[in-house]
Amino acid sequence: MTDNEEKTQKRARPLYFQLVNAYDEIVRMAVREVMGKTDMCKCERCFLDMCAIVFNGGYAHFVNTREGELLKKIPDMNLGNHVEMMVQVMHAARLVKTFPHHGPDEIIKSSAH
Ligand SMILES: [Zn+2]
Repeated sequence: MTDNEEKTQKRARPLYFQLVNAYDEIVRMAVREVMGKTDMCKCERCFLDMCAIVFNGGYAHFVNTREGELLKKIPDMNLGNHVEMMVQVMHAARLVKTFPHHGPDEIIKSSAH
């Protein structure tokens, strides 16, 4: 491969980086779990509202990663090892259940998460 060919190839594969919250997956997993066991609305809006409460409660650790690349340091995905996070998620469930951000007739029946 000549120098020029090498340069062309490098240009053809630009690097993309993504800013991601390392806790994103584990928080969504915990919210799904608690939501499933709680007598509350299961719509997408309530799901995301719960996620927002938990992220804002301290479960946010942003890292830059190459697009498509797995995070090098992801939190332990075993929910049983995240007792404090689960407490936060249950708090979020109570909050969203009591004060949903939508009226009773606006409930979106979605299980797409
Ligand atoms: Zn809802």
